[in-house]
Amino acid sequence: MQLKVYNTLTRKKELFVPVHEGKVGMYSCGPTVYKYAHIGNLRAYIFMDELRRVLEYDGYKVKSVMNITDVGHLVSDGDDGEDKMTKSAKEEGKTPLEIAAFYTDCFMKDIKALNILKPTVCPKATDNIPEMIQIVKDLLDLGYAYETEDGIYFSVEKFPSYGKLSGINLAEQRHGARVEVNSFKKHPVDFALWKKADANHIQQWDSPWGKGYPGWHIECTAMSKKYLGETFDIHTGGVDHIPIHHENEIAQAECWLGHKAVNYWMHSEFMLIDGGKMSKSLGNTYTVDDLVKKGYSPMDFRYFCLNVHYRQKINFTWEAMDSAKSAYTKLCALLLQHKEGNEQADVKQLENYKEQFEQAVNDDLNVPLAIGVLWTMLRNSPKSKAVYDMALTFDKIFALDFDKVQPQQKQTEVPDDVRKLVELRSEARKQKNWAESDRLRDEIAKLGYSVRDTANGPEVEKK
Ligand code: AMP
Ligand code: ZN
Repeated sequence: MQLKVYNTLTRKKELFVPVHEGKVGMYSCGPTVYKYAHIGNLRAYIFMDELRRVLEYDGYKVKSVMNITDVGHLVSDGDDGEDKMTKSAKEEGKTPLEIAAFYTDCFMKDIKALNILKPTVCPKATDNIPEMIQIVKDLLDLGYAYETEDGIYFSVEKFPSYGKLSGINLAEQRHGARVEVNSFKKHPVDFALWKKADANHIQQWDSPWGKGYPGWHIECTAMSKKYLGETFDIHTGGVDHIPIHHENEIAQAECWLGHKAVNYWMHSEFMLIDGGKMSKSLGNTYTVDDLVKKGYSPMDFRYFCLNVHYRQKINFTWEAMDSAKSAYTKLCALLLQHKEGNEQADVKQLENYKEQFEQAVNDDLNVPLAIGVLWTMLRNSPKSKAVYDMALTFDKIFALDFDKVQPQQKQTEVPDDVRKLVELRSEARKQKNWAESDRLRDEIAKLGYSVRDTANGPEVEKK
């Protein structure tokens, strides 16, 4: 089966042909570790994971690199505002190193909970400063960059195909009011490769241009080249990276290397909340922990994400999460029936489902269609362990813990008063009264019991 992927650069679905036969090098823009990852960020990494799993299913040996941004990403994606790490360090009264260590750890826990395979390498930007300085030096020597009072900038007019990924037009950008003009820059779209730091700046390193710190874009060029070589297969990120971050990566990498650096650019669409933007000020940037506290498992959320194609926006609502949870619960119940079933399987029909599944995932990761094939197979097949085994094969890509479906645990003997509180809590959750649900959980705890929300409903245990 041949994999086709949508390449943002060519705006077409293309046959995937790796640089080295049987191997794939993929680079994903990693998290800026200055705060907790929200569920929108995590959608981007579920996409990264699905892509890797499809490639591995197809027999490729995948080297997956995801950087950890612990310096250089300013509040805007361009050259404006404070460095996110520095800002967060000041706000929390910690050092940037402490901030980065804490939020990297949280991120790693989140991806583990969501069954996102840990990338082969997760390099930190701050461990690669000399590599970045070298590229900046080379770009200056080659005449693609220039020094100003406040840093080293890349001159976009020196790269005639600047804008090829997003389709922006440099002449329009010069005259358009959208881009703020930094008086040091020759062109408003020129971007910082290196910023000179004043004495108060917390994160700074020695460089040929005095003390300073790298721009955000240069880190991805330095680390992708270091771990994947001069031309590698796939670069992923969220769609917000297309117009600035990835456009800039292409420009600096191609000028530095003198050739193309990435063959396929793949981008995942955004997650919306209640049809609008997720933002801290609206208080709607939920984390995995927030979902768990409200009784949804990480697998409910992964299932929710897998039901929308990565190039479509996904709209998060609590109603949609309820539907996902209920569907995932039913799916697990069906899987269990097959696991324990002893009817005769139709082997030919199962192979047919497998083919449909493989066709779907190889068609630019049409995972929602593949989920549909799974449902059809589970609903229409005789109850047989062979069907369950086929579902486990599909789960190499879904990663929805199908191997963990178990007969419902014998419930602990629970006293009536506790059982009543558990029922009230389920009722409160149905009405989305989270405060009441949390209060009832505490009441239950006071009586010596804990309640866990599982795919099979609440499970009560003696503490
Ligand atoms: P950041 O940590 O800000 O660099 O973002 C990490 C990843 O999350 C990037 O690939 C972004 O494109 C992606 N991202 C940010 N916000 C959203 C969102 N609302 N929905 C989906 N992906 C997002
Ligand atoms: Zn990046």
